[in-house]
Amino acid sequence: MVLLEVIGHAAAALAFIVVIVLTVRRRQRLARTLSRNATIAYRSILGVSGVVALIHASYALESLVFNRTVSSPDPLYMALHSPALVALSVVLLFLVSVKLVAERSPRPRRILAIGAHPDDLEIACGATLAKMRDAGHSIYAMILTCGEAGGDPAIRLREAHHGARFLDVNEVEVLNFNDTELADQVNEITRAIEARIRTYQPDIILTHSAHDQHQDHLAVHQATLRAARNHSAILCYESPSVTRDFQPTFFVDIDGYLDVKIESVRTHADQRRKPYVSPERVRGIAVFRGGQAKTRYAEGFEVVRALASAVGDI
Ligand SMILES: [Zn+2]
Repeated sequence: MVLLEVIGHAAAALAFIVVIVLTVRRRQRLARTLSRNATIAYRSILGVSGVVALIHASYALESLVFNRTVSSPDPLYMALHSPALVALSVVLLFLVSVKLVAERSPRPRRILAIGAHPDDLEIACGATLAKMRDAGHSIYAMILTCGEAGGDPAIRLREAHHGARFLDVNEVEVLNFNDTELADQVNEITRAIEARIRTYQPDIILTHSAHDQHQDHLAVHQATLRAARNHSAILCYESPSVTRDFQPTFFVDIDGYLDVKIESVRTHADQRRKPYVSPERVRGIAVFRGGQAKTRYAEGFEVVRALASAVGDI
C-alpha cells in the first residue's frame, strides 16, 4: 500500500514535470500560437502545476521515508485528487491543442522570402510569414548578410535562426555577403537568388521595395527582380527605411498575428535600441496599413507582378 502511494505520487510529480519541461522547450511556439494574455495565463497555470508537482513529490518522499501512507488526508491532499482538477487539466490541454491547429489552406504555396539583414523579414512581414506557415504554406527564408555593420555578427546570426524558428519557417539560410556593401555585389547576389529559385521553385517571392533608401535593401530588390525575371509573383514588403513613395496595393490581413509579429521582432534583442523595433511602431504601422486595407491590422506589399493562380489564397 505504501509502495503504491510512493509510486503514484512520484508518477504524478513526474507527469507534471514532463509537461512543464516540454512547455518550456516549446515556449516560442506557444508564444507564437497563443495571444500574449493566453500565454501568460497558460504559464501561470503551469507555475501552479509546478507547485502541485512539488507537493506530490513531498507526499512520495513522506511515504518513502516514514514508510506509511499520508497520515490524515488534508484539504490540499483531497484537492490534488479531485476529479475537478483532472477535468480542468484535460479542458486546458484541449483548448491549447485546438488553438495550435490553424485553418489549413487547400492550396499550399511555396514562398521564398529574401532579406538583406537578419531582422528584415520579421519587421517587414513577420505576421504574414507566421500566418502563411500556420495555413500550411512552406516558407524558405534567405538572408544575405549577418548584419555585421549593425551589431555582433555571431549574435545576429544566432538571432536570425532564433527568429526563423519562432516563425516556424521551413528553412532559413544566412549568406555571408558584406553588410552595407550589397550594391557592389548585385551580380553575385542575383546568382545566389537564381540558385534558390531553382532549388525551392517558389510560387511567391517576397523581397525589399524599390522605394527603400537603404542601399542594401535597394540592391536586394534589384537582384531579386533580375533573378526572378521569369517569375509570376513578386511582392515587395515594407521595411522601416521605405520612402514616402512606398505605395502598397496588396495587403495581408494579420488580425490575430500582430502579437506574433511583435514577439518575432523581439527575438532580435541585439537590435532592441533601434526605434523602429518598438511594439508601438510595429503596431502603429499595422493599424495604418489595416486602415488602408479596410481591416483591423494588415501588412502592405507593393506588387511587381501577381499572377492570381500563383498567389492563391494567402
Ligand atoms: Zn535591413
